[in-house]
Amino acid sequence: MEAQTSAVARVNANARVAGPIILLGPPAAGKGTQAKLISDTFGIPQISTGDILRANVSRKTELGAKAKAIMERGDLVPDELVCDMVASRLLEADCAHGFILDGFPRTVRQAEWLDGHLEQLRAGKKGDSCAQQACAAPVVIRLVVDYNTLLQRITGRRSCPACGLIYNVYFQPPKVQGICDVDGTPLAARPDDAEDVFAERMKAYEQLTLPLVDYYKARGRLIEVNGDQAVEVVMAQAFSAIENVNRL
Ligand code: AMP
Repeated sequence: MEAQTSAVARVNANARVAGPIILLGPPAAGKGTQAKLISDTFGIPQISTGDILRANVSRKTELGAKAKAIMERGDLVPDELVCDMVASRLLEADCAHGFILDGFPRTVRQAEWLDGHLEQLRAGKKGDSCAQQACAAPVVIRLVVDYNTLLQRITGRRSCPACGLIYNVYFQPPKVQGICDVDGTPLAARPDDAEDVFAERMKAYEQLTLPLVDYYKARGRLIEVNGDQAVEVVMAQAFSAIENVNRL
């Protein structure tokens, strides 16, 4: 724990120089949890493409209408739609010192687009809000987790529709079954966490997202962390990777 605390202290001292961070891993690998910890510590936003798409679905936007059925099947939303969505999000002022991408890129085309986009930002071709650090080459943290653990995490996952707190009926149950500890709202399961949809999401991950491991390895940007460990241990290893990476 001491090592973890000092990792946090070291990172705090370096706050606001994080640059782009990508969290790579299958559904329920812990990307959202780690992204939140990194976001709180480094003071950079967590950008979850899944969350943005879900928000569009519930607001019934044009993008949401296009994405809804695809997401319900567990397939990937077309690259162009997701890349446009990320491009607009990166223009926001809170991305000026870096950002964490959670769930993006998910295909080699998305990764190539992101590299090109960051390069253009560095060259000042896409607006002037981008500090050099924010559009540096990303550091990619891959969370590696065993299939059966993922299945339990997914089928046990429940969240509070009001405050967003996430529980797991096996590993982290609420005090009263089915009810949020914080605000008493009935908990909900995500429709795409059903076991059959999970199988589809894993298939999409293996076919379309796993090739990113080689993509980023070849560019010397990939750091692998065993995501089967306690959250704090994964966090300490991820933080250390972010601190020690050579951005150039
Ligand atoms: P997530 O919350 O990251 O598991 O994403 C939920 C769903 O949103 C995925 O199963 C996809 O249908 C869609 N989605 C999220 N991110 C992407 C992405 N980068 N590319 C394509 N589809 C995505």
